[in-house]
Amino acid sequence: MKKVIRYLRFSSLGQSNGSIEAQELCTDKWISDNCAELVDTFVDVGKSAKTFERPDFIRLQEFVSKHHKTVDYLLVDQMDRFSRNAGDALTMIKELQKKYKIQVVSVTEGITFDYEVPGNFFRTGLQFLLAEEDNINRSIKVRKGLYTAKAKEGRFIGSTPPFGYRKIGAGKDRRLVISEIEAEIVKFIYKSYLKNVPLYVIKKEVYEMGFDRKGNVAVENILKNPVYAGMLEVEAFRELPGGLFPAVHEPIIDNKTWILVQNKINEPKKTRVILDEQLPLRGILKCHCGNPLTGAPSRGKSGKYFYYYKCKFPRHNNLSAVKIHDQLLSVLEVITFPESMINQIIKGCRIKVTKELNLKKLKIIRKEKQLYDFQEKLSLLEEKWIIGEISVKSFEKWSLEYQSKITHIAEYIKKMKLFVARVTELLQQRLDLLIDMKQIFCFAALLQKRELLKFLFNNNLYYLNGNYLTNEINKSVLYKLSSLENRGLFII
Ligand SMILES: [Zn+2]
Repeated sequence: MKKVIRYLRFSSLGQSNGSIEAQELCTDKWISDNCAELVDTFVDVGKSAKTFERPDFIRLQEFVSKHHKTVDYLLVDQMDRFSRNAGDALTMIKELQKKYKIQVVSVTEGITFDYEVPGNFFRTGLQFLLAEEDNINRSIKVRKGLYTAKAKEGRFIGSTPPFGYRKIGAGKDRRLVISEIEAEIVKFIYKSYLKNVPLYVIKKEVYEMGFDRKGNVAVENILKNPVYAGMLEVEAFRELPGGLFPAVHEPIIDNKTWILVQNKINEPKKTRVILDEQLPLRGILKCHCGNPLTGAPSRGKSGKYFYYYKCKFPRHNNLSAVKIHDQLLSVLEVITFPESMINQIIKGCRIKVTKELNLKKLKIIRKEKQLYDFQEKLSLLEEKWIIGEISVKSFEKWSLEYQSKITHIAEYIKKMKLFVARVTELLQQRLDLLIDMKQIFCFAALLQKRELLKFLFNNNLYYLNGNYLTNEINKSVLYKLSSLENRGLFII
């Protein structure tokens, strides 16, 4: 008598006539018709045929590898119970037969697969391909529906609405509406990103504001999602084009902001520049050919180092750092701030300095209290000595100690008071330094120097034939074109 095992699978998705009971009935009939004996049944419920990672399917494989000698057939009621992928299923069928001498029987289709008979195996393949085609047709229908909904009707399709929106309505009338509080957070993300706020800072702030999407790139995803600009990203479908399509919902982000943000995201990653105090323009100043100039020292005959900026192409720029730094400083001399900005700078600086000075003043008050305490102690000591409570020796010892403390603290207070006075005076006298672009540049730290140049020349500073060139100068500063040109900066 032939021994059989059977494999039944039921996934609730879209199978109308394949319940486990029906599959059981079908295979039972085959068993009695063929006078076979059922050894075991393996059942997977709710598992897709797309993979073989189904618990009972795995159990079946284990069973086969152990007991294959006692099994002749593996029954399924229909091919697609096995797998939806023709290639995978054929390999499995072939392996079962070759390795374990078990043949697969599809009861409904009435086929016993025999890979050693060419025609039969061909039919098997065909069966699987037909099942696969079914599958493809279904997915085409789904994709076509999606395309129409998104590209033609502008409807947002998706189970969860994007952060910033809520879903209202049902079926075809379902649409996104703005959730005001969340929308503010989305706007904040876009605005901060354009202001060059580092992403990690934006992330920290938005989570504090109530942003609740998880994942390392949740904020990046917000920046890339066209839904916020009132668009939907649609995959191409057959001959129909893909891309961004206008949606029916209201945008949170205006179109201009959206475009700016996308450009910024897609900017090519800048090559890493190794910073060098001697070469602040490295990676900022570009050759007339567009290449950023590299900088390096070269050793002179005396052993001294001379710094150069040069282009990677021969006979392009090769510039003495000292020379072009001086030239840049003389250019910066004639760039100034408008009055409103000057007032702001001075005000900001005053606030900062005052805050610092107040701290120092507080410290002075504390020190004055200490001074007073020691003076008190000293006069007490003198009294004790006068009335003979303490010996001359201990009086001398303690008075020396107190006096040294008093001198020390008094000196400190004097120094601090002088400092405060001097800072206040300096602030009055040298306010001009605060608004002198050349001075600002000279006193700035390396990174600040670089930021200042990027700010002033909007990342477009070139060098050609002894002159600096730029496309634009930041609109928030003032300059006279002729003075710039006299000093070797031309706006092209
Ligand atoms: Zn060049």
